[in-house]
Amino acid sequence: MSANTTQLKDWYGYVAGEKVVSDTFHEVKSPYDNRVVGRVVLAGKKDGERAIEKALAGGKKLNRYDRYTIIDRTRLLLVERKEEFAQLISAESGLCIRDARYETGRAHDVLLFAAMEALKDDGQIFSCDISPNGKARKIFTLREPLTLALCITPFNHPLNQVVHKIIPAIAVGTPVILKPSEKTPLTAIKLVELLYEAGLPPYMLSVLLGPTKEIAEPLTQDPRIELVSFTGSVAVGKHIASTAGYKKVILELGGNDPLIVLEDADMKLAVTLAAEGSFKNSGQRCTAVKRILVQESIYDRFVEELVKKAADYVSGDPADENTIVGTVIDEASAIYLETVAKEAVALGAKIVFGGKRSGALLQPTVIADVPPTARMVVQESFGPLAPVIKFKTIEEAIEISNSTAFGLSSGVVTNNMQHAIRLVKELRMGTVNINEVPGYRIESSPFGGVKDSGLGIKEGVIEAMKCFSYVKTYSLPW
Ligand code: NAP
Repeated sequence: MSANTTQLKDWYGYVAGEKVVSDTFHEVKSPYDNRVVGRVVLAGKKDGERAIEKALAGGKKLNRYDRYTIIDRTRLLLVERKEEFAQLISAESGLCIRDARYETGRAHDVLLFAAMEALKDDGQIFSCDISPNGKARKIFTLREPLTLALCITPFNHPLNQVVHKIIPAIAVGTPVILKPSEKTPLTAIKLVELLYEAGLPPYMLSVLLGPTKEIAEPLTQDPRIELVSFTGSVAVGKHIASTAGYKKVILELGGNDPLIVLEDADMKLAVTLAAEGSFKNSGQRCTAVKRILVQESIYDRFVEELVKKAADYVSGDPADENTIVGTVIDEASAIYLETVAKEAVALGAKIVFGGKRSGALLQPTVIADVPPTARMVVQESFGPLAPVIKFKTIEEAIEISNSTAFGLSSGVVTNNMQHAIRLVKELRMGTVNINEVPGYRIESSPFGGVKDSGLGIKEGVIEAMKCFSYVKTYSLPW
């Protein structure tokens, strides 16, 4: 079965609400069966320039209630059309329809929380008569929007990544130019259309898809853009960091998240978290479980149970309601994953479940006895692989976990509070979740990594709203 429920049509970038016009197109194909899902009219350098000019020229200034209303209307429109969005996400990314529906729910929450936050004022008051040097004055803070931000998003959550980038900016009144992934641009464009429909003044948002040299690079480097917010790979993130020039740069990069299973863990919970964390969203989450570290005394039983559990994760046609794991983003990515699995086997690891590939569809794969030095677990492996590594002591688990270049998130399965607290303190990661997957969060809690996973600047609705604005202080005699 391969239901093509998405109507074929041409898609357009928008410069402040006006469709991009050109005679070059980019075809977006289903990773599952290569059918064309849609084609996008490509923008060029002049469109980037116009998008900057339109944003800087501005328009109706949005007060808090305006921003709340637009974001909340967008939320309601998304609820109405969530099945259309889910079908489109699944068609262009190869994620199974279940994961795509789940993603629309997450995007809903981002809109809900951002609408609520738009109504709040986080201003502070500092009385100045509080030291021998004090004066009879008060200092107040207020938040002002930036002139213009650029948001660049990856393929792996075609809706939620985009919502997380642009909605906090709109919630504080900062105009945005969005550059979505060329692999999954259709959902991003559909969201932009939803925002216009909800009443967003066009100057507040443009969306452009085009050659990197004409769109992403010149915009990143343009001094009129005050902030670049990027989510994607380490290589591109570091390139942006070195070329963006004098502006705020937010980088949310790759992850290599461990799930550490201690010998006192609840085995059923550990196995469930390992499977969900490794296989959900086809393993293509920055916070997917990418390494499962299991203590020696329970290792054999854990591997046996994980193999049984993995059998529940049926892979296949993303449109099929029974599919739990869809494809990865393209065949080249699936071949890479297959290659690193083979390399691990050459180093002594064993594929104990799955491992078969057909095009971009890779079966959920459990690999036991993976040496901590195998490329599969040193680099980020972005797909449904569950590599299991044996460790003896907690010290060793901490050392292995902290040994890679990444520091995004982690999960620990234990019933021992002392161990839990120690791991919270000693894992050098942006997040440590006890008895949960590394990816657990709510959409408004602070999120982001350290080391090669990011510069320690957090996202999540509230923190992102802070990034997309600046604090002005003013003082008065009192
Ligand atoms: P990617 O290849 O780095 O692409 C991300 C975005 O950057 C795309 O829109 C891409 O455009 C654009 N881009 C490419 N070259 C650029 C340049 N020179 N200047 C500016 N922008 C440029 O990443 P991906 O493969 O789409 O995404 C997967 C990665 O994202 C994984 O490493 C994953 O861990 C990471 N990720 C991190 C988080 C987090 O929060 N930490 C969340 C999700 C994903 P084109 O598509 O047009 O090339």
